[in-house]
Amino acid sequence: MEGTSEVSEVPVEEENVEVWVSSFQTLVSTLVLQEGPAANGSFSKRKGNMYDNLFRRYFDCGLRQLLFHIKQLENLGFHREDMSLTKDSFIKLSDGNQIPVLGLGTMCSQKGTKAQARAAAKAAIEAGYRHIDSAFVYENEVELGEVIREKIADNTVKRKDIFYTSKLWSTYHSPELVKQCLDKSLKALKLEYIDLYLIHMPIGLKVGEEPFPKDDKGKWIYQQFDLREIWAAMEACKDAGLVKSIGVSNFNRRQLEFILHKPGIKHQPVCNQVECHVYLNQNKLLEYCKSKGIALVGYSTLGSSRDEQWTDPKSPVLLQDPVLKKIGDKYKKSPAQVALRYNLQRGIVVLAKSFNPEHVKQNIQVFDFQLTTEDMKALDGLNKNLRYIDLKLYYFQVKKNLECRILALPVLPDLARNTIHLNQELHFLHMSVNIWLFTALE
Ligand code: NDP
Repeated sequence: MEGTSEVSEVPVEEENVEVWVSSFQTLVSTLVLQEGPAANGSFSKRKGNMYDNLFRRYFDCGLRQLLFHIKQLENLGFHREDMSLTKDSFIKLSDGNQIPVLGLGTMCSQKGTKAQARAAAKAAIEAGYRHIDSAFVYENEVELGEVIREKIADNTVKRKDIFYTSKLWSTYHSPELVKQCLDKSLKALKLEYIDLYLIHMPIGLKVGEEPFPKDDKGKWIYQQFDLREIWAAMEACKDAGLVKSIGVSNFNRRQLEFILHKPGIKHQPVCNQVECHVYLNQNKLLEYCKSKGIALVGYSTLGSSRDEQWTDPKSPVLLQDPVLKKIGDKYKKSPAQVALRYNLQRGIVVLAKSFNPEHVKQNIQVFDFQLTTEDMKALDGLNKNLRYIDLKLYYFQVKKNLECRILALPVLPDLARNTIHLNQELHFLHMSVNIWLFTALE
């Protein structure tokens, strides 16, 4: 059989299972993450490259063995045990650009100030971070831009070494406003381009200067536009060279599909930035994103800043979890470092926010140890679908939305897909209400 000589180089014994599992894992993640959806095609067409060689080995060792390896993989939950991860590691995005696997989060909670964000970004670049996550609505882009330019001027980095993310805020959810919001970020930063620009949330708020528009009863004022039109405006920003890559944030599978199925889509979202940690491990969404060549960027990996605006003060404190502590003790690492490493080993790009210079340094020291399969399993076991960032904004308010829902009924299928509901039950409720309205009007 063709390729037999290569196969005989690596005999398939039970003791080689780990090697095979890790090869197969690399194969899958390389194909899916680096080559995008096309990678789902036939392996056999890829003769002469490494994937063929690997696949032929599986072919030769027989279906039984292959199934055995896949079973092993399932047991591992596709975990990545990769000591080759370093602070300079990146994930290749579907558009060919590269995102560093660890980024500094800079969202200012009520407690945080712009000056603290500035100092943290400086400490982070000096400690070796090359990825900074911010957003128009964080209102710290002037300070972050200053730091980046300062670090370029003192030759610590070049512009191309820094991966800077910003996000389109929800009060700019209209195609003609997308570039306006981006221009404001670029102007604040005084940079020529942004590396990654995300739709911050799949929900629109009333257009205007007020970032969190509420009515006189304190309820959010929504204004929903077609997400596909917004996506087309994002594509135009990429084509104009103002941003290198475009993606989304806080999208569920349905909302991602809505964009991916856009007729004539030019650029698919390279990533989806969502809350992701040991209490909300997002396994299903991660699997879906990987299958579509979309990188998952995890926020609140450390359990968030517990800002009472968004977080239930009674929710458990993630960094006090005894399992994180126990595993950390084994490696002389903190619970924070274990929490970060857990996501890194799952092939997730991880954001860690800290305005404390000591924590900033500690959070990048996550590349000199490795969690075992047992550790990963124990950490998987902590999942309880607990969401720290629970924006009341997401909740469907039947009364307030009734009128605009009725007006939008002719585009019901799109509308239903377009509506944010990170909470499954509420999503179901919302769908039901839409369907009920539709039937009632028919
Ligand atoms: P994180 O989960 O990163 O946690 C931040 C908290 O952990 C802070 O209170 C911080 O305190 C503390 N902390 C950091 N490092 C350590 C450590 N080594 N030991 C102990 N405590 C530590 O919070 P975020 O929710 O801010 O998420 C990270 C980033 O993700 C955000 O800053 C933002 O950039 C992004 N994000 C995006 C969202 C979106 O909608 N797309 C939503 C939320 C976040 P201290 O500062 O004192 O170190």
